[in-house]
Amino acid sequence: MEQFISNEQFNVIKSQIIGMQRQANVTSDEGVKTAVKEAAEAKVHDSFEQLTPDQEQLISGVAALETEEERTKFLMDLTPYRKSFPEVTPADLRGLFPKVKKLHIPDLESVDFRALTYLGWKDIGQSKQYFVYMKNGELKGVQGRYVISARKGICSLCNRYGDVALTSIQNKPRESEGLKSYGQYICYDSKECNQSIQDSSQLEAFLGQV
Ligand SMILES: [Zn+2]
Repeated sequence: MEQFISNEQFNVIKSQIIGMQRQANVTSDEGVKTAVKEAAEAKVHDSFEQLTPDQEQLISGVAALETEEERTKFLMDLTPYRKSFPEVTPADLRGLFPKVKKLHIPDLESVDFRALTYLGWKDIGQSKQYFVYMKNGELKGVQGRYVISARKGICSLCNRYGDVALTSIQNKPRESEGLKSYGQYICYDSKECNQSIQDSSQLEAFLGQV
């Protein structure tokens, strides 16, 4: 079976399993518990457009998970079928940002590429934020600036509540229009963002502006 589970889909499954357990813990009504479990199972299936019978079987059974051990094992068993983000090298990153002199390269050795929807990192000294993501089957690099927010907030890419930074990117000046800047509150920690993001549309809409 090929790798077919994107990072966003894996996060949907993880979040449904955690949410299902949380709701099951606060009710003793068996009818409610069953409804919650069935809803979780349905949401997992709905996150995939098409599934072969083998794939269908692999992601089925969320509703039957009872113990912490079973839940952990269920997620672990999906590992070989998770699609990976391209395993980029420092040279790839320099190629994506050819105009940046002395590009700050993140610690790629510590990155779990399966757990990425985008690669994000900061050059803290320069208050710069870098993004690399897939656009129409190709890697694309976008750079911006960030200002740490004093207050926690909701990330516009993954909807998680936590530490955020106001991150701005600029379009390339075109003849018809001047330089435009676009800002969004985005998780300060891109690893956490990648572990929460359940849909890449917000990311694509934001970064696609430049
Ligand atoms: Zn986020």
